[in-house]
Amino acid sequence: LLDLRGLRVFVAGHRGLVGAAIMRRLASEDCELVTDATGTDLRRQEATERLIAGLKPDVVVVAAARVGGIYANSTWPASFIYDNLAIAMNVIQAARLSGVRKLLNLGSSCVYPREAPQPIPEEALLTGPLEPTNEWYAIAKIAAIRLCDAYRLQHGCDFVSVMPTNLFGPGDNYDPESSHVPAALIRRFHEAKRRGDPTVTVWGTGQPRREFMYVDDLADAAVFVLKHWSAPGIVNVGVGHDITIAAFARLVADTVGYAGDLVFDPSRPDGMPRKLLDGRRLEALGWRPRTDLADGLARAYADFLAGGARGPG
Ligand code: GDP
Repeated sequence: LLDLRGLRVFVAGHRGLVGAAIMRRLASEDCELVTDATGTDLRRQEATERLIAGLKPDVVVVAAARVGGIYANSTWPASFIYDNLAIAMNVIQAARLSGVRKLLNLGSSCVYPREAPQPIPEEALLTGPLEPTNEWYAIAKIAAIRLCDAYRLQHGCDFVSVMPTNLFGPGDNYDPESSHVPAALIRRFHEAKRRGDPTVTVWGTGQPRREFMYVDDLADAAVFVLKHWSAPGIVNVGVGHDITIAAFARLVADTVGYAGDLVFDPSRPDGMPRKLLDGRRLEALGWRPRTDLADGLARAYADFLAGGARGPG
């Protein structure tokens, strides 16, 4: 059990959806948050080692990544694999060199094989082929997990990895092409309501199933894992139930107050047919999510309206 009191904690990627939520959560811990004021490019090895040597953190959270939805992943494969490999390699190595006591590496549910059993247990990692639409990102995230495990074996580093399910919340990226489905639909329904459009288009068939978690719940789980988990391998973080994209789109429409019809565009990819995590490992340690989907979406929409991540404002 790690006591965070008085420790220096560095969150790499503290302006992103996940990093910002972890910063909000850590604010209620009695630790010292150290940040990178200079905007270091974590893809640069020397700069990253200099940054972390200078900050001298006791704890590092790796929430920096190039992220994006199904379209962004398949459009910029080289950026997704290179940037994420470089960030993981550099931050993890720099953390070891500077003698960090604990490191938490953020992964993704897309690391699991396309045909993994559902709900997906941690043991499904590396048991089959990946979903092609996000395999570039997934390969980099799998390499980061294995880096943590290898550093534990060879150097005795207490580096751990969590795999969150699909996330949404304040500070999300609302760009129509590169966003994930929650932010994309919040924006699309909002604009359709404003213009009075009779229909809104949703990508794919609407049949894939996804599990959605409000990002502040993930942040709470991340801090819980930092304190209570210290072992090789990975820990899933999910809510325990999933929903079809069609039903999710209807829920977002209701949240936004859009009363028109949904139209599906099957020329856009569906991606994984289903992606529901088995969260029993974390549950057994005593952690549970708090926010239900409708409440989370209402808060995310309020953030969008307030101009979060360049929403209307
Ligand atoms: P994924 O879990 O990696 O597939 O992440 P996404 O959030 O990008 O996509 C989840 C599902 O939502 C996929 O089946 C998409 O086809 C579907 N979807 C429907 N409309 C949209 C949209 O406007 N943007 C995105 N990114 N996905 C959408």
